[in-house]
Amino acid sequence: MLRSGDQETEALVDACREQAEPLAEQLREKDFRTQWEAMADLGVLRLAEDGGARPGPVTRSLAMIEGIGLAGIDPGVCYALASQVFGMEFPLRAALPGPAWEAIAHIQDGRALLCHALTERGGGSDPLSMETRARREGDGHVLDGAKTFITAAPVADHAIVFARTAEGRHPFALSAFLFPLDLPGVTRSEPFAKTALPQVPMGELVFKAARLPAGSLIGEEGSGLALMASTTAWERAVLLGYALGPMRRTLRRIVAWAGEREHFGRRMGASHQVASRVSEMALALHRSRVQVYALAARLDAGTPARQLAAEAALTKISVSEDYVRFTEHATALSGVRAFIADSDLPADLHSPMAALTYAGTNDLLRVGVARQFGLPVEN
Ligand SMILES: Cc1cc2nc3c(=O)[nH]c(=O)nc-3n(C[C@H](O)[C@H](O)[C@H](O)COP(=O)(O)OP(=O)(O)OC[C@H]3O[C@@H](n4cnc5c(N)ncnc54)[C@H](O)[C@@H]3O)c2cc1C
Repeated sequence: MLRSGDQETEALVDACREQAEPLAEQLREKDFRTQWEAMADLGVLRLAEDGGARPGPVTRSLAMIEGIGLAGIDPGVCYALASQVFGMEFPLRAALPGPAWEAIAHIQDGRALLCHALTERGGGSDPLSMETRARREGDGHVLDGAKTFITAAPVADHAIVFARTAEGRHPFALSAFLFPLDLPGVTRSEPFAKTALPQVPMGELVFKAARLPAGSLIGEEGSGLALMASTTAWERAVLLGYALGPMRRTLRRIVAWAGEREHFGRRMGASHQVASRVSEMALALHRSRVQVYALAARLDAGTPARQLAAEAALTKISVSEDYVRFTEHATALSGVRAFIADSDLPADLHSPMAALTYAGTNDLLRVGVARQFGLPVEN
């Protein structure tokens, strides 16, 4: 049932589920960092070498994250793991020269966390409007500005920060930096009271004449938009893989519920309308799973993420919207229990809805899709 991957991948999902399952209950009330470290100890943040072994490194990470979600680890933790692995570790391994990657590679043991700081209070959809500025001073840079709505900012140890190093809206106006967050001039907010994925903290980073050490610049000055194209293509391609495990659990719970609940003198699942909603949920999950694993396989085959940007955008739109519809069906079938936090069938509509916004809003991604087909449409 819904086992659409190859045997090795399915075995990896199951192995990770088995390892994480005994931890799920113990970790339920623990803070984010404790849950993060427990999952890191399973090796989920460790990128496999690209040595031709099957499954390839991206599929491997995806299968582990699916297994962790299937075990019942909080979806917010699954999201944060997927965000660091796919949106930061893989792109950094590709972008950084060997010694620079080695210097940060310890993040894979989970004792230090990364965050990806792009959005500002003035808006997230239009990176070229950013106001955070870095100016060169000696062999480093000095950073001023603020990044807001950043996943893991309140707890992260290092950040990838995008800043303006030239004026104007041209493609070389931005640069990307990677540096530790314990520098003088860097402060962070308390966690925001977030309604989606509440387990993973979100906050603001403020930079006041923060002197970044030499070597913080990723690539060349002016190459920030190119790195952003890579990190966002990675996110759009595979980040939503975090939802596959939680979706599979929800489907399982709903099927069990429809099988036991009685209405009108028969079991609820004997209604065609109920059966139809369950089938819609299975279809949404199947489509999502096939698409995300297909992109993971393309990345494993060596296709650079930026070359997959168009398909990644389509996948991100499709999976996020399927996740929302899937959750709507689950909510409808759960009745009032969907709205009772400690019931067996609580619904979380905020978290799937948030996926319509992060990693590029679906509305703006649609504009890009239409542009690919030749329409003369701009953002
Ligand atoms: C759970 C979550 C986690 C996040 N984590 C991070 C993170 O780790 N790092 C980070 O940098 N950011 C993060 N973000 C922020 C996210 O990247 C931004 O929310 C996103 O880029 C949109 O920016 P905005 O919210 O400022 O919306 P706006 O840019 O203000 O847009 C608002 C709405 O207007 C629409 N819109 C704007 N212009 C147009 C147009 N020309 N045509 C059609 N529609 C348009 C948008 O599509 C959107 O629907 C996160 C967001 C969420 C929800």
